[in-house]
Amino acid sequence: MTVTSTPIIYWHRQDLRLRDNPALCWAAERGPVIPVYILCDDDAGRWPLGGASRWWLHHSLDHLRQTYAKRGITLVFRRGMALEALHALAKETGAKSVTWNRCYEPHATERDTQIKNALHKNGITVTSHNAALLHEPWDIETVGGGPYRVFTPFHKACMAAPNPPRTLEAPALMAAPATPVPGDDLHAWRLLPNTPDWASGLRKSWEPGEANAYEVARDFTEDASGGYKADRDRPDKPGTSRLSPHLHFGEISPQQIWELAESAIAEGKTHAAGAEAFLRQLIWREFSYHLLYHFPATAEKPLQPSFAHFPWDTDEVTLRAWQRGRTGFPIVDAGMRQLWQTGWMHNRVRMIVASFLVKDLLIPWQEGARWFWDTLVDADLANNTAGWQWIAGCGADAAPYFRIFNPVLQGKKFDPRGDYVRRFVPELAKLPDAHIHAPWLAPPETLGKAGVILGKNYPEPIVNHAAARLRALDAYRQTRKA
Ligand code: FAD
Repeated sequence: MTVTSTPIIYWHRQDLRLRDNPALCWAAERGPVIPVYILCDDDAGRWPLGGASRWWLHHSLDHLRQTYAKRGITLVFRRGMALEALHALAKETGAKSVTWNRCYEPHATERDTQIKNALHKNGITVTSHNAALLHEPWDIETVGGGPYRVFTPFHKACMAAPNPPRTLEAPALMAAPATPVPGDDLHAWRLLPNTPDWASGLRKSWEPGEANAYEVARDFTEDASGGYKADRDRPDKPGTSRLSPHLHFGEISPQQIWELAESAIAEGKTHAAGAEAFLRQLIWREFSYHLLYHFPATAEKPLQPSFAHFPWDTDEVTLRAWQRGRTGFPIVDAGMRQLWQTGWMHNRVRMIVASFLVKDLLIPWQEGARWFWDTLVDADLANNTAGWQWIAGCGADAAPYFRIFNPVLQGKKFDPRGDYVRRFVPELAKLPDAHIHAPWLAPPETLGKAGVILGKNYPEPIVNHAAARLRALDAYRQTRKA
């Protein structure tokens, strides 16, 4: 390996960390490093950063900037078209080499290929690395050599594949370029909301950045992953890791989490069955990336073509009631308000609210996916697409369309005492457990005692679930006939 004094540009994207970072290690071993984050105008496409993601990105970048600064390195912020920004940076600094960790979203792979070719033509070499997945989407293949569409055999194939490389330490030493490289002030990008400042719930709920991501992963794998199997479906309990935004922004890698869980099992700090059930979720994440990579149109279109003609019925009033958590179904409203207030929603509740949107309201899943995209701090094109298509019944290995969640039964089963509903729908807090998931069935005097006036301080249900279910099944029958 040749070590030079010519600086190497390392382009950060969804890998906002120093540990287990192959592109950074590659650069640091070869010469002075110029780490850059580009707020890409060409990234926008059909999926520009949502509001909650912008908030997270600001704080995560600020944390990364400070981490570099402690090592005497400046994280450079630039804004514009990525190719132009990289060209300009290479020209200013004399860099002849650019490196990055791969992204897998269709618009990103297309952009990166174009950039790679254009830089090569100008004598700048590009190397890319895997820092986001346990296995590259093209490395896991069916016997016939194609992509998987069903999770269980995909999971088996992942477990049988060669182990991913062990995690890397952050480079012990990094050289800075001889001359300081100017960049933007992060605050000038105005990623944070100010008029109005709606982010107080996000500030209370999250601490973005690599240091906290690692702590959360270590604490969860050691102290809580053992109970994952039993508690993962309970939104009233802290049963899941809440690592999703940290993973999305690459503040931690799946391999780091995998190793932490394996060590916790080996050292007897956690129950293997719980921790293994948790690790299985990381393979669901891999599956989502595999699907989006091999079926790039699925962020917009159903994987199953028969659903292209589904008789959806977009009604702005009901869509808005769903978005605002005012459907009259407590578990749905609690979920949508948790999302609005904290930028995150429990997975079980994501399934319930998504089923309600596409089946009870017959609103296209793409509308739900867009709302999630704007409001989730973990908004992730692969996971969001897979989650919505799975619920809508039009994706890979999807829940059959005719399996329609009953929001009252789901509430009773997974939030049996109504603690989750009470937390996010305080106007129902005084209702007894027996009525918390279906206030419209409570006797008037019970409602009166709890201070609930249906239609006034809490909505009547916006649909009759039994009738909505039949309407959805009928729509499905029409699609199948067509
Ligand atoms: P844990 O249960 O602790 O799981 C650990 C990690 O595994 C998660 O952080 C996540 O990266 C991955 N994971 C867990 N469940 C799934 C799953 N079902 N599919 C894929 N990966 C999974 N996840 C996102 O990260 N971003 C999204 O935009 C997103 N949109 C979704 C939309 C719908 C309609 C549904 C049903 C699910 C969606 N999910 C999404 C998947 C899942 O809900 C979240 O990953 C999970 O709730 C995150 O919480 P956690 O970190 O505590 O998960």
